[in-house]
Amino acid sequence: MGLKFFNTLTRSVQEFAPLDPAGKKVGMYCCGPTVHDFAHIGNFRTFVFADLVRRYLEFKGCAVQHVMNITDVEDKIIKRTREAGVSCKEYTAKYEAEFFKDFDALACKRPHHTPRATEHVAEIMLLIEKLIARGVAYKTADGSVYFSIEKYRGCGCQYGQLVKLNFDEMRPGERVSSDEYEKESVADFALWKARVPEDGDVFWPSPWGEGRPGWHIECSAMSMKILGPSFDLHLGGEDLIFPHHEDEIAQSEGATGKPFVKYWLHGAHLMVEGKKMSKSLGNFFTLRDLLAKGYTGREIRYLLLTAHYRESFNFTLEGLASSRVSLARLDECLAKLRECAGTINAAPDVALFEKFSTALDDDLNVSAAWGTMFEWVRETNRLLVEKKLSPQQAASALTAWQKIDSVFGIGGKAEAEAPTEIVALLEQREAARKARDFKHADALRDELKAKSWVIEDTPKGPRLKKI
Ligand code: AMP
Ligand code: ZN
Repeated sequence: MGLKFFNTLTRSVQEFAPLDPAGKKVGMYCCGPTVHDFAHIGNFRTFVFADLVRRYLEFKGCAVQHVMNITDVEDKIIKRTREAGVSCKEYTAKYEAEFFKDFDALACKRPHHTPRATEHVAEIMLLIEKLIARGVAYKTADGSVYFSIEKYRGCGCQYGQLVKLNFDEMRPGERVSSDEYEKESVADFALWKARVPEDGDVFWPSPWGEGRPGWHIECSAMSMKILGPSFDLHLGGEDLIFPHHEDEIAQSEGATGKPFVKYWLHGAHLMVEGKKMSKSLGNFFTLRDLLAKGYTGREIRYLLLTAHYRESFNFTLEGLASSRVSLARLDECLAKLRECAGTINAAPDVALFEKFSTALDDDLNVSAAWGTMFEWVRETNRLLVEKKLSPQQAASALTAWQKIDSVFGIGGKAEAEAPTEIVALLEQREAARKARDFKHADALRDELKAKSWVIEDTPKGPRLKKI
């Protein structure tokens, strides 16, 4: 299909060929939020990136099954739940709802499945049992279960597919119970964590005693339940490469003996003054922080979509301000095109369309794609000024933009932002009505209609709507 992605698994840019022999169905999993607090816009850089991948695959004609898990049980959540004195469910439900509000405000398409870890404990336990039966996981005296890297490698499987690891320092059987650890401390990792007093009532009965799942196993269990043992695409932020994604591969391939994921795509971090935006560094903005400053979801989405996903990108408020300027230029051009095209419908402008897809086919080169768009804006403005654009050409350009925007998801400005000339006509009509000059008012209404705008009388007064 001409589309290429950088695959972390092969460390190279590869042609994307779905597992589906017909080349149509695509299974895509993106690690979702841990719902212990409001997500910050660094987190959303990753979700907007996943949204771009999905939308572009759909643009290319693929039928995408998009899955994003909700991590609603883990160390931080349990700690916060205890501090807040509420149930785990009550606590996570609030942040999950807030997460989706932000997700929608950034115009990310809702995934087809958003499984919660706490609702898949049975599947997780079955997967752990399978790993024990295959001899690559073992129970410890406290009732936890660990994945054995030594046994897994002993079966001819490779641990260290996404990252290079040094096993010389590794001592067999050494264990790490925490979900996040460095490459240097590679060790057997927890699949099931035995209940401890601090867990309160967050536990499930299991064949190994009361406890709860580790973080990594939930993604293996839920992705394979929905997408099958082998699927096309797995996405996440680059911080998840190790240990989370490496452990997902080990758990999944250890249980099924089949290759887990064909293409691994990782988004680079959103930075603030050279440091990763993160809760722990305190250098973060949530979406609501930025909305409160008067920015819109659309401006933030645009900013996040201006940088290539594999480049770390510095977030600044100045960057957001210049996003506003760029979008205004685009909106103005689109409004003028609408005016010129009137009610004509036309097939998309092929040249514009092709330049856009050539850019995105190249490992989602959004910078080149936006470059093309703004060059087009400049050229269109010139043609409009010189009155060299026919209504047919304007309509064709607009149809191309609509298709392109099915990928960018920026949308046009709402109808309220009608061109000044149209707003002036509306004001004249209101003045005529007040003066009880109904003949003139009707003539102005007709004039607006001829320019493809209708007036809707609402309780808040008249509103312009594009036909
Ligand atoms: P979490 O809710 O912490 O599990 O993270 C959700 C997603 O956000 C993961 O895919 C992380 O890799 C990603 N993420 C976290 N911080 C950043 C950041 N500063 N920039 C981009 N992605 C991030
Ligand atoms: Zn995951």
